[in-house]
This record gives sequence, C-alpha cells and structure tokens, in this order.
Amino acid sequence: MTTVPDIAPGTANPLIAPTAEGHRRILTGDRPTGPLHLGHYFGTLQNRVQLQLQDIELMIVIADYQVITDRDRADRVAEHAENLVLDYLAAGVDPDRATIFTHSAVPALNQLMLPFLSLISVAELSRNPTVKDEITHSRQAAVSGLMFTYPVHQAADLLFCKADLVPVGQDQLPHLEITRTIARRFNDRYTPLFPEPQALLSEAPLLLGTDAGKMSKSRGNAITLGADEDETARLLRGAVTDNDRHISYDPETRPGVSNLVLLIALCQGRDPHAVAEEIGPGGAARLKRTATEAVNEHLRPLRARRTELAADRSLLREVLHTGNARANAIADRTLAEVRTAMGTF
Ligand code: ATP
Ligand code: MG
Repeated sequence: MTTVPDIAPGTANPLIAPTAEGHRRILTGDRPTGPLHLGHYFGTLQNRVQLQLQDIELMIVIADYQVITDRDRADRVAEHAENLVLDYLAAGVDPDRATIFTHSAVPALNQLMLPFLSLISVAELSRNPTVKDEITHSRQAAVSGLMFTYPVHQAADLLFCKADLVPVGQDQLPHLEITRTIARRFNDRYTPLFPEPQALLSEAPLLLGTDAGKMSKSRGNAITLGADEDETARLLRGAVTDNDRHISYDPETRPGVSNLVLLIALCQGRDPHAVAEEIGPGGAARLKRTATEAVNEHLRPLRARRTELAADRSLLREVLHTGNARANAIADRTLAEVRTAMGTF
C-alpha cells in the first residue's frame, strides 16, 4: 500500500542479522508532544524504516501516558498522535507490516508496570541522568511520581512484545538499562520469559537543535520534518555557531558548527570531515546556506509524500485502530504468561 521513498543506506550493524532463534522484533516510539524533527529522523526513524525493509517486525509505541511526565495536561494528544503516524508513513514506514499503537489503549501492557516496579529500586530510578535532564527542562513546579517511574513504563512497552532490538537516540540508553535490569531480574526471580533488548544507535544519536542543545519537540529548537523550505531556511539562519570563521568538524569543542556540518553530511551521505574541509573559509553564512539546501533537498520527497498523506486523516486513525488491536492481542498473551510465572490468579 505504501511506497517507500529512497532512504540513504546506513552502516551495517551485526545486530540486524536474524539470530539463531529466527524472528526479531523491534520496538521504539515517540511522545505525542508535537511533530517529528530532524533529530528523530536521523536518530531513529531512518533505522526503523531500514530494519523494516529487512523484514524485521516493527512495533512503534506512541507514548501518550508519557506526555504527562513533565506537564499537567496532555494537550491535543490525539491530534499529535495522528500527526506522528503521518510522519512515520511519510518517512517510509509501511503501516501494513508495522504495528503502530498508543500505549494507553493497551490495558494489559500497563498492568505489567506493577510487577516491574517491584524489580527496581528507588535509588536506581533516582540516578537516571535522562530523567534529571528532563526535570531541569520541565515546566512543572513539583516533580511527579510518573517522572521517576516512566522508565519502568517503558520497560512494559518493550517487554510486553518481547522486543529484542531498540533503535533509539542516546537519551534513551539509561532507560534501556532499566528495562534490561527488569527483564533479567524477572527471569531470575520467576521464569525466563523476557529478552534483554539491545539499543541500536544511529550515526546521529544526539542531533542538536538551533540552540546547540538536544533537538527536542518541547524545547523550541527543532526543525520539523513537515516544515516548509522557507521556514527551514529561517530556522537554520538562526542556529547557534561560534566566532571562529574557519569551519571545522569538532563536536567536542564546536558543538553548534559541528552539528550543522553533521547535518549536511547525513543529508548528502558524506563524511563530516570532508564537508567541513570543503566549506572551510566560507564561514558560518556558507555553512548555514549549505545546510539549508542539503536538508530541503533531502526531505523534498518525504515532504511531498507527507502533504499527500495529510489529505486523508481517516487513514491515520485507521492505522492506529488496527495497531491498537494487534498490540492488545500480544499484551494479553504476555500478561497471561506473567501471571502464570508469578502464580497469581
Ligand atoms: P520531547 O521534547 O517531547 O521529549 P523529543 O524530541 O525528545 O520530544 P521523544 O518523543 O522524547 O522526542 O523521543 C523519541 C525518540 O527520538 C527517542 O528514541 C529519542 O532517543 C529520539 N530522539 C529525540 N530527539 C533526538 C535527537 N535530538 N537526536 C537523536 N535522537 C533523538
Ligand atoms: Mg524526549
């Protein structure tokens, strides 16, 4: 049903090869807090599409309960969820083969959170660096219990479907460690049931935004996949660089400049050092112009497809409806196994 646009091939990863056990299932997801941006695209979305092209089963969770970790209300959550589906399909996810679901619609998944909470300590949850960073950026006066425990909810997202591979950005690694710990402890304490999922990082595990901090939907520093070419140019013109006129690639000491160099390299499938050398004395103005052209050119087919798909909102809702039904069937099965393993009624 869906035609897959050209996706630049990424580096071969041995994890992608099917194991002796055969079937591989990946799960990954996003919060419905706004439209997807270049950080998602290069950080995880390209990998999701590529894995699916290799016939690995793709599950995508739209983490709607996770919206209320750092804000009081889940504003326009259904609309954001539909727009995430739109971005996925535009990027090449095949909805006929992927399961795209909202975790609030899958009760058995949520029930797994109870036994899982007992498998991790408060101290382990409190020292999670991603949660600490999100608290710093949160708009709330008080930190909610969900903020500390959502990584356990994420363990339920991953383990209900026994996913073994997770294409994510760098911020997710501490959460994944919590999932792995929960899986291990469950298997030791009860019956071996869960795999310990492994992260799959892309070449851009932490793409920066226009303020040189992590590009995020919620931080006003993102270039969205759906932005038009003029808006992309305007946002990139405002990106933070530095005073050194000569362009080089050194992410440690020159994060803003290097991020733009990386962006060009990712869009053009080139080595960032070669890109920096070519721009060299051209300075920040040429760097930003080149980045704008590279991004707009690379995203042109995706954006055209996105506009086409946006005309039919009922298709987006249908994808979620089907995905939720599939996810419920899987979650009911896993919860039954967990209850048997624990000896509950
Ligand atoms: P929010 O600000 O609402 O938290 P976000 O931009 O951080 O939004 P998420 O929905 O939290 O996006 O993250 C979804 C997935 O995208 C995760 O796997 C995350 O690691 C990845 N991701 C998000 N931002 C980036 C980025 N800047 N670079 C690479 N990967 C990213
Ligand atoms: Mg986030």
